[in-house]
Amino acid sequence: MPSDQVFRSRVSARIANQLDHLLRGYGLPNYMENWEQTALALGGALGGYLPGAVVPPFAQRLRKETQSVILPGEERALRAYLKQRRATGTRLNLNYLGEAILGEGEARRRLDAYLALLARDDVEYISVKLSSIFSQINLVAYDATLEAVKERLRELYRAALQHTYRHPDGRTSSKFINLDMEEYRDLHLTVAAFQQVLDEPEFMALRAGLVLQAYLPDSFAVQRSLTTWAQGRVARGGAPIKVRIVKGANLAMEKVEAALHGWEQAPYSSKLEVDANFKRMVVYGCQPKHAAAVHLGVASHNLFDIAYAMLVRDRAGVRNLVEFEMLEGMANHQARAVQERAGGLLLYAPVVKKEDFHSAIAYLVRRLDENTAEENFLHDLFGLEPGSPTWDKQRKRFLVACQLMERVSDQPRRKQDRRLEEDAGDSVPDLAAPFHNVPDTDFSLPQNQEWIQDVVQRWRTHTPDPIPLQIGGELVGESFPGTGSDPSCPGVVAYRYAPRRPCPGRSGAGGCHGCPARMGCDHCCRTQGVVAPRRYRTRTQPGRLDWRDDPGWWQGHHRSR
Ligand SMILES: Cc1cc2nc3c(=O)[nH]c(=O)nc-3n(C[C@H](O)[C@H](O)[C@H](O)COP(=O)(O)OP(=O)(O)OC[C@H]3O[C@@H](n4cnc5c(N)ncnc54)[C@H](O)[C@@H]3O)c2cc1C
Repeated sequence: MPSDQVFRSRVSARIANQLDHLLRGYGLPNYMENWEQTALALGGALGGYLPGAVVPPFAQRLRKETQSVILPGEERALRAYLKQRRATGTRLNLNYLGEAILGEGEARRRLDAYLALLARDDVEYISVKLSSIFSQINLVAYDATLEAVKERLRELYRAALQHTYRHPDGRTSSKFINLDMEEYRDLHLTVAAFQQVLDEPEFMALRAGLVLQAYLPDSFAVQRSLTTWAQGRVARGGAPIKVRIVKGANLAMEKVEAALHGWEQAPYSSKLEVDANFKRMVVYGCQPKHAAAVHLGVASHNLFDIAYAMLVRDRAGVRNLVEFEMLEGMANHQARAVQERAGGLLLYAPVVKKEDFHSAIAYLVRRLDENTAEENFLHDLFGLEPGSPTWDKQRKRFLVACQLMERVSDQPRRKQDRRLEEDAGDSVPDLAAPFHNVPDTDFSLPQNQEWIQDVVQRWRTHTPDPIPLQIGGELVGESFPGTGSDPSCPGVVAYRYAPRRPCPGRSGAGGCHGCPARMGCDHCCRTQGVVAPRRYRTRTQPGRLDWRDDPGWWQGHHRSR
């Protein structure tokens, strides 16, 4: 797929350069027809000279090829699409495509785009990624991040309450906002922001939802606690919430993230466990007392899982509280069959404007991954029919996952807890053992957020001891007129120290040891060798002996003691 690397830039010359680079490295894709290969080769060769002429048709072609999966965001095309889908009785969940953003200007632009969608009379339901509406998610500053995210959510939820949607049967309802789930690090932040804002009196009547990813063992515990909370909200007169259960689309990214930081991978290590957890969450969510407070969306393209969820839903008698969701363009023939059997379908429709097409690339790559990963259902879909080898393979997987459902762990795989760690002290490490970095602190874990908040709190009120001089092994200093500052707190004295002073000329034979004043002055230190000067070579004057030139002399002196 050339699109990922090529379209990261919006600049035609850069795109042409990357296209040429890929074609040189990998050759022409052999799935293309002859004339397409010729056109691509020509484009690669001429793009460097005429990027403005070559790149736009190339981008146009790519957009056209993907338009069944990614919808055009331009007004006329979008309106026509919404009308056509509505005519077939399919409900739509629109998502303005975009991945995590870098700046607040872009965050505002995305927020405005969501608000514009909510204001349309032909839009009922939208999906939002938290990382697309706030650019500075920083879990070290968890509380500040949470407050900022909540503020953005309030703005969206207010718009959802303000605008109403008229359903084909004449009913009206407020607009629906669903929070998509992305990285593991966002799980607890998303849930906390969602619950805290919906707990505010202004939003008690609002129905809103979020996604839980079954590939995270943690999700089942989160589902249970969300359910208990939602039952309380409903009992207090609030609206039910909705949870969409998916398996999870960012497995590769989670693996890379874990490897880079020295952490366990957050998702389960096998698909069987993921499948088992997915079913367990569906069964739990379909229990009538749970579904009444937490409506369920079952989002999958795996027909075994969809059929299973339909049976569980019907046996539990919660047909009107559990709906099925699929992605636009991924398996539309399946979607039609599911819509018919399930009595309705919510289609997730990603939308992107021409100028933002680069934002669609990550989405396309995730879909490509889903279609090609060895164990996935869609990988086996072509030629799938009862009795075929791929059918038997998927059927077996399904049955084994059913057996595993009650036993699969619901404990987080990432357990690091900085609160419980002790300093290694003087213990000597095994010097023969291979070198391993100490894992980075995982600030997505609540216990580590608690730990760092505690550290910050302690240091905020902590006044460090004044720093004396150390002369001849002894600490010297009765007054501490020197002051140090912390650039993050201008005007505040961060610490005090005893500075060296000019020599009053009273040193004795033993340097500072003999100096009656014991003042730690320049003279004693230099002439009596209390701080031993070290040989230090400068490039200009080799062999020159001058401790002042040695930037490490002070540390060296201390370390050697
Ligand atoms: C309407 C809708 C909304 C969605 N929203 C989100 C969202 O907000 N966030 C999100 O992350 N995803 C979302 N997705 C994508 C979703 O996660 C994938 O479509 C889904 O995982 C594919 O699962 P499946 O049941 O269709 O197929 P299956 O083939 O049964 O399952 C594939 C999934 O199994 C898991 N898997 C595969 N191999 C392994 C392995 N070796 N180890 C561990 N796990 C493995 C992965 O999660 C993979 O995606 C959404 C999907 C739909 C349909």
